[in-house]
Amino acid sequence: MGLDLERVRADTPGRAETAFFDSAGSSLPPHPVLETVLAHLRREAQVGGYRAAGERADDLADVKIALGALIGVPPASVALSDSATRAWSDFFYAVSLRAGDRIAVSHIDYATNAVATLQRARAVGAEIVVLPSDAQGRTDVEALDPVLDERVALVSLVQVPTQSGLVEPIAAIAAKARAVGARVLLDACQSIGQIPVDAAALGVDAISGTGRKWLRGPRGTGFLHVREELLSTLEPRSLDLHSAQWTSTDTYELALDARRFETWECDVAARLGLGRAVRYLLDLGPEQVFAELSRRAAAIREALAELPGVTVRDPDDGPVGAIVTLTIDGVDPVAARAELAARGVTVGASSASSARRDLGARALPAVLRISAHAFVTDEDTDRLLIELAALARRAGAH
Ligand SMILES: *Cc1c(COP(=O)(O)O)cnc(C)c1O
Repeated sequence: MGLDLERVRADTPGRAETAFFDSAGSSLPPHPVLETVLAHLRREAQVGGYRAAGERADDLADVKIALGALIGVPPASVALSDSATRAWSDFFYAVSLRAGDRIAVSHIDYATNAVATLQRARAVGAEIVVLPSDAQGRTDVEALDPVLDERVALVSLVQVPTQSGLVEPIAAIAAKARAVGARVLLDACQSIGQIPVDAAALGVDAISGTGRKWLRGPRGTGFLHVREELLSTLEPRSLDLHSAQWTSTDTYELALDARRFETWECDVAARLGLGRAVRYLLDLGPEQVFAELSRRAAAIREALAELPGVTVRDPDDGPVGAIVTLTIDGVDPVAARAELAARGVTVGASSASSARRDLGARALPAVLRISAHAFVTDEDTDRLLIELAALARRAGAH
């Protein structure tokens, strides 16, 4: 069964404003998500935040149940946070590292993760090693053995980078990492909501994700999943009265479940909105959504390949997802994004400063990024292609 695209479009009021191709940046929430957030803010204004949250206790508990169902893990292994970055660092800084340990990162590493890795490696005297990649930019599973040995304490992976359609062979890399006893942390920011993510099949220790991208949730939401057997061994770098209990004047006890990575205070409305967004996706079917997004991305890549002056920058072989990246001869992607926005077409751009190893190795200062969600219509896509062709023509004429 395909998706009910009519319903998805009718549920997305923001579509009327712009042809929207930036779901990898910050997507348009469906109406039920927006209503959930607004209704809770109104209720807080009527009865105060504590009573309002109490009234929604079941729905708040359901946020973790829904996320657990989405990635196939128990709700108690999920911690809610205010961003994927926070979730990622909560795990990253809790893994114990000693001088001489190695942290392995991939070629497509994201700037936020990269700077934290640099900081921590310096602080503890660890060494950073980069996993080998193939000609397409994917981690080369066959070439991992010389790099992955027992000195590697932590492997930091990104399933789908912010700057290309590439999809990493996570399960195969994680299997090799586990074989040498390394912890595996997966940044699933660009895959969650785009590609079905099954934690057990991937075989990683922890997964971080964000609400506002492909999940179409509110801003300021994210989550961390940590494998249950591992939780009791990890002491978060900061605690409060929710992640731990003050058991006597001189003692505290950490929460036994993933709550040890949460803080008590949070944006309750946004959190309810995140839960609603995950339920919305589960209702549509993550597999169906992925099939639809893949179909669209393939059609856009095919159409772009026909445009003079346009070069698609995604891998042309192996698994690719719904992020489409391109450059236009003689056009600065960041300036092009602004020009397109002024003409009612919203796209993203990724600069080398967010992905130095990948875009740096390809000598690309930046790329334009097209990320179409299921609510995008064929007319939106036609508009996008017309505008991109016009940009290429104008640049070619100089
Ligand atoms: C957006 C993004 C992040 C950061 O997510 P936040 O919710 O903004 O913290 C991390 N990794 C990748 C690959 C991303 O694209």
